[in-house]
Amino acid sequence: MSQIKFLFVMDAEVGAPLENGEGIIVLDHEGAHYVVDALISNELYRSHVFAPEINWYLKQTQAEHNEKNEILKKLYEMRFIRYNYAPKKTHAVTVDRTVLMIGESEEALALVESAKRYFDVTHVLPQELLSIEGKFGSFTAHFNQKSEEEGEMKEQESEVCCSQLVVCDQLSELSKHRGVECVMDYSDTDALLKRIRNRIGHYEYKKTITYDATHCMYHHHEKTACSLCTDICPTFGLVSDETRKELIFSALDCIACGKCVSVCPTGAIDFAPFPQKAFLEVADFCQGKKILLIAEAYLKTLEGCELPSGYIPYVIETDPFLSLLHLKALFEKSTHTVLFYAPHIGEATHEALKVLNKESSRTCHQKAIELVQSKEAFEAYMTLTCKNDAVCKKEIENRQRIQHG
Ligand code: SF4
Ligand code: SF4
Repeated sequence: MSQIKFLFVMDAEVGAPLENGEGIIVLDHEGAHYVVDALISNELYRSHVFAPEINWYLKQTQAEHNEKNEILKKLYEMRFIRYNYAPKKTHAVTVDRTVLMIGESEEALALVESAKRYFDVTHVLPQELLSIEGKFGSFTAHFNQKSEEEGEMKEQESEVCCSQLVVCDQLSELSKHRGVECVMDYSDTDALLKRIRNRIGHYEYKKTITYDATHCMYHHHEKTACSLCTDICPTFGLVSDETRKELIFSALDCIACGKCVSVCPTGAIDFAPFPQKAFLEVADFCQGKKILLIAEAYLKTLEGCELPSGYIPYVIETDPFLSLLHLKALFEKSTHTVLFYAPHIGEATHEALKVLNKESSRTCHQKAIELVQSKEAFEAYMTLTCKNDAVCKKEIENRQRIQHG
């Protein structure tokens, strides 16, 4: 069977607003059960890409049938663009049971004993450790080992290879590497052991950042004109080589937070799962519409809220990558104030939002982006704007009535 591009599975909860046609195959659950290869679907099963915003939209929208159908089709197309641009290639490292644990406190020794139940543990005291090299899955540690020979204490340099590391008694810069955990970052050690146990096996990852050195103000510049991305990166996903004046990226250490993208003033860094080009293409579908900008993880929070007619959800993976360019593009496409639901907003994105709002207030007497950070604030905003819209509509009708006698 050839692949179905867009599959819509009918459900009692969301109804059946679509009919087969225009590239969307509509099936009930029983029919969908026989589909073996669908690309994008509103249901989690039987598709390569699950688009939760489709059912979410159907449940929340107050739009009439025709508008609902129009937006639904757009949501499939928007997902398709995101899918097309996102990197497909995966990389992998093998993670075995070897763990190096560094610590000397009583708690550290107790943790070492408990870890031995699941892992192949090498324990070293902090003062014995000489150096650590490598990456997640293949770290190499050098340390001094003391041993007693013929009543005499001898010291010799040893080397151990391990997949993961645990630093027990202090915080450590090493935890910027994937595969290195500090006990102090955890409220309980069971959670830490669970985390490192879950990583054993085949660890897969994708590239989340792309970089164009020709636009970078650091790359091969004698005087460092910019270090915003390296300053904000919470991991070793992005570091600078001061000698060569080059940025070095590690997809393995990157946690895909997107912060480096939001601070870059030149667009030299891009968010691979949703690059700027794709972002602008998706924005084209929102021309003249009211936009609700929201990260996928927050759709659930707004369940039960009403989405008035005229709105289209613009769904993104995560929000800390949003820069001035992204926010501006949405406002310009929409021409309405963009509603941005983000309970926790990154500093750089917040700064971009303030700059854009200042500019739009000056040039078009309108807020470009309205930030709402809770379900209650979302509902209050919708109630207020709908009320205002109704008042405006009535006012326009009254004026037209007067004009036409
Ligand atoms: S996405 Fe986050 S972790 Fe990855 S390189 Fe950028 S700032 Fe660092
Ligand atoms: S923030 Fe952008 S311009 Fe600045 S160093 Fe990083 S990549 Fe280069």
